[in-house]
Amino acid sequence: MVHLTFLGSGDSQGVPRWWCDCEVCTEARTTGANRRVRPAVLLEWTGARVLLDAPPELRERLVAHDVRSLDAVFLTHSHNDHVGGIVDLYDFVRWTGAPLRVRVPFRSHAMLLERYPWLPARMAIDRLDGPVEHAGARFAPFEVPHGANGFAYAYRIEVEGRRMVYMPDSLDVPDALVDEHLVDLDLLVPGTSFWEERAERSLRSVLDVQEALRLTARVRPRRTIFTHLGHGVDRRRALPDGHEFAFDGMVVEP
Ligand SMILES: [Zn+2]
Ligand SMILES: [Zn+2]
Repeated sequence: MVHLTFLGSGDSQGVPRWWCDCEVCTEARTTGANRRVRPAVLLEWTGARVLLDAPPELRERLVAHDVRSLDAVFLTHSHNDHVGGIVDLYDFVRWTGAPLRVRVPFRSHAMLLERYPWLPARMAIDRLDGPVEHAGARFAPFEVPHGANGFAYAYRIEVEGRRMVYMPDSLDVPDALVDEHLVDLDLLVPGTSFWEERAERSLRSVLDVQEALRLTARVRPRRTIFTHLGHGVDRRRALPDGHEFAFDGMVVEP
C-alpha cells in the first residue's frame, strides 16, 4: 500500500502572507481552509518512508504527524522553501543515531553544500546523476525550467506498480520532457502558485492553474493534485474531474 501525505502545500511564502489582507489570506486566518506551509510530501510504502523536500516548517509538520523515522530524503532543489528545514533534520539524526541519506539531484547538490557545508558531518549527502532505486521504488529526477528562478528538479517515482510525478516548481516544461516523463501516470503533482498569473513572463517562475490544466489535457494522468499554492489560489474553487487542490495533512493512495 502506497501513501502520499502532503506535509505542506503552500508556495514559497506560505498562506496567509503575514502582511496580507486579501480574501484568501483572511480566510486562511479565520476558517483556515487555505492555511498552508511551504511544500513537502511524505511517501510511504511497504517498509519504507521517504521525505520529499525539507521546508522551513518541517519540524513542526513531522511532529504533527508523529513521524519519528525517515529512510531517506529526496530534494527537488536548493531554494529556501524546499530545504530550509534541513537544519532540523541535522538535530533529528543526532537523536535517532540512524544514518540519514539525503539525495540531491545533480546541479542542486553543490548549491545545497554551499549553503550548509556542515551537513555531511552527520548525513550522507548524495549527488543524484540519474535514477536510483530505494527499497524497491525507482526515483528518476529530471531537471525542469523554473522560470526567473533558474532550474529545479522533478521526480518520476515508480513504486508498487504506481507511477507518479512530483514537480512542485516548474514553468514552460519542454514538450520533449513532458513526453518522456509525464506520460502514463497514476498521479501528477504539479506546483501551481497562482490561479492565473498576469505578471510579465520573464518575472514568472511557477505554473499557474490554467497552464497546468492545459498540461494535464495533454498527458492525461489518472489523478492530478495541485500543490505549491500561493495566496492567489483559493482551494475551495471547483476544478475539472480528476483534479484536486492539496491541503496540509492530505493523505492519498496514488
Ligand atoms: Zn518552491
Ligand atoms: Zn523554487
